[in-house]
Amino acid sequence: MATPKLQAPRGTYDVLPEQAASRLALEAVARRVLEGAGYERIETPVFEATELFSRGVGASTDIVQKEMYTFNDAGDRSLTLRPEGTAPICRAYVEHGMHTRPQPVKLWYLSPFFRYERAQAGRYRQFWQIGAETIGSDDPAVDAEAISLLWAILSELGVGGIELRLGSLGTPETRAGYRAELTAYLHAHEDRLSEEVRARIDLNPLRAFDADHPGTREVMTGAPILMDALAPEDLAHFEEVRARLDAAEIAYRVDPTLVRGIDYYSRTLFEFTSDLLGAQSAVGGGGRYDALVEQLGGPRTPACGWAAGVERILLSAEHRPLPHAVCDLYVAGTGLAAFALAAEARRAGLNVQLELAGRSAKGQRKQAARLGAVHVALVEESGSIALEDAETGEQEPLAGASAAVAHILKGRHL
Ligand code: AMP
Repeated sequence: MATPKLQAPRGTYDVLPEQAASRLALEAVARRVLEGAGYERIETPVFEATELFSRGVGASTDIVQKEMYTFNDAGDRSLTLRPEGTAPICRAYVEHGMHTRPQPVKLWYLSPFFRYERAQAGRYRQFWQIGAETIGSDDPAVDAEAISLLWAILSELGVGGIELRLGSLGTPETRAGYRAELTAYLHAHEDRLSEEVRARIDLNPLRAFDADHPGTREVMTGAPILMDALAPEDLAHFEEVRARLDAAEIAYRVDPTLVRGIDYYSRTLFEFTSDLLGAQSAVGGGGRYDALVEQLGGPRTPACGWAAGVERILLSAEHRPLPHAVCDLYVAGTGLAAFALAAEARRAGLNVQLELAGRSAKGQRKQAARLGAVHVALVEESGSIALEDAETGEQEPLAGASAAVAHILKGRHL
């Protein structure tokens, strides 16, 4: 019986070489836009103490309740594969005393995240996000700039059918009062709600705005709206964010029912969707989280950030992959002299590929053409080298590896 083949786990995928180029192009654009605006790259571990997410993301959220990959390690510590990037970055901000640096601290990342979700097109159990966090300022310009940078990345990548929705959640105090009002409203209409929403009225009433269930949706059209309850200073902050988006000519729609499945947001909240994406239409989003750093044991520190899904960007973007690296030299011949030539040429900074499959002389030529090699080196065991110009077919006899490398470099700088 043949040995059974193994497959990647459900909800995960392999990035094959032919898909790598468009991901690299995406990374290059994100990096240029964000580093151009002064953001610096940060990497945090793939797993963290489980408590970071139960405290940071919120114990009642779907993420913490049912989507985390949590395990005990051999030392009996509860660890979790990170489901999102903001709580780990705030943990790092506190742990490394980044509040002593000039504020705000501006950080970006491109990393894999893990959620046990129902796998479907655009929704995976390991997925990648680009994200940016600005920690240490409550200036409305921070929010508007964060939004405009994500907008710039999506536009430059040619993400189609984009809509930006914008809302404000006010402060935790405003939300507490509003939550009580909404909970009472939901209880009063309990009989028309979906079972899932009904079961979570007291735990997470805001999620009722997200429901697809027709009865629930009907009830929610008459529900009290958080933005009507905002305190004057929060409303003023929101108006300042809007004014800056207007000044930057970024179109948005105010959506008073916008909610996101994470507890740490306060004030500004936003989401980009693409109508090219079907059911999983959210490309990226974020908002302000003024209490999170303090919740994680740091000083009170206002902050704002976003995350965008790499797979969804790729699904809705025009594909403009970066050009491949040029192959300067293809070394035909398989002996030690050939290997030594490849090593010397690489030390000189050339892109070199070796013959590795024992092809015939004819097969080697074909392979060099397939790679688009600029030069082909025909290497004799004696050490003598004939360097062939792949375009003209002209051959140049050369005394050894150093002469061959010098010849290629000279041609390269012409
Ligand atoms: P969130 O961290 O939930 O605010 O998500 C931010 C963005 O990440 C979303 O707008 C999606 O583009 C992407 N995203 C979230 N969850 C997944 C998933 N399971 N699979 C693929 N992309 C995801």
